[in-house]
Amino acid sequence: MSGIDDLPPLREVIASHGLSAKKSLGQNFLLDLNLTARIARAAGNLAGMDVLEVGPGPGGLTRGLLSEGARRVLAIEKDSRCLPALEEIAAAYPGRLEVISGDALEVDPLAHLTPPIAICANLPYNVGTELLVRWLTPASWPPVWTTLTLMFQREVAERIVAAPGSKAYGRLALLAQWRCEARIVLSLPPSAFTPPPKVSSAVVHLRALPEPRFPADAKVLERVVAAAFNQRRKMLRAALKGLAPDIESRLLAAGIEPTERAEQVSLEQFCALARELG
Ligand code: SAM
Repeated sequence: MSGIDDLPPLREVIASHGLSAKKSLGQNFLLDLNLTARIARAAGNLAGMDVLEVGPGPGGLTRGLLSEGARRVLAIEKDSRCLPALEEIAAAYPGRLEVISGDALEVDPLAHLTPPIAICANLPYNVGTELLVRWLTPASWPPVWTTLTLMFQREVAERIVAAPGSKAYGRLALLAQWRCEARIVLSLPPSAFTPPPKVSSAVVHLRALPEPRFPADAKVLERVVAAAFNQRRKMLRAALKGLAPDIESRLLAAGIEPTERAEQVSLEQFCALARELG
């Protein structure tokens, strides 16, 4: 018995199912159920919500999400060795946990859930940024999810919440902050994981805003931001010259000095430039 539920402690689960961590799958497990319950609480009030979890592994966070009251958890896991352990959790929470055996980059399980939907995961580092960008760029806004509560390497978490002028500021900050409120809610040392990764981690909480902070066409804004930060050391008039023949006057019309670099430009200014170029 492990405190948050009547299931065995995670060390026992890992030993009895032979779940030695695989580096190729980004497996750094959280075995402290108090910590996984804290991460689940950082997702907000889960009562009445469907939760998508990517990469449940042996199920520490899954148990946190269920014990914190999620209406239903849909978990997608690539490593089939974890399925028997997850089945035990499903049996302890009848009708509330469904597990899909597969690759989250290939299957889109969001269609199987009923809003309101929260996404919460201790993501495999090799696929975390790719999934975040997909969740941040759906065809229409607001998205089908209400909140994202995601574990990243600390450095990636800092890029998501970065302010203009900082080294971490770039495409991820702009994509995230244009249509979400984003903040770091928890920092974790390598020792919180088994096995410990090389770097520290942090949990980022993103809440979808009903509307973008400033109007802009998503595709144009993404193109402008990608071009600006692909050559972040260049002055914007050079970095963006491929976007329009008269880029200097477009930059000026958007209130941006053509000699500025991307990291000095605010979200509001990037949106104004996207409108100029749209
Ligand atoms: N959630 C567990 C925890 O907190 O202890 C495990 C986290 S571990 C960092 C990442 C998990 O994602 C592993 O269980 C791994 O097998 C799984 N995984 C890796 N790549 C995946 C993918 N493309 N789709 C689904 N799961 C994946």
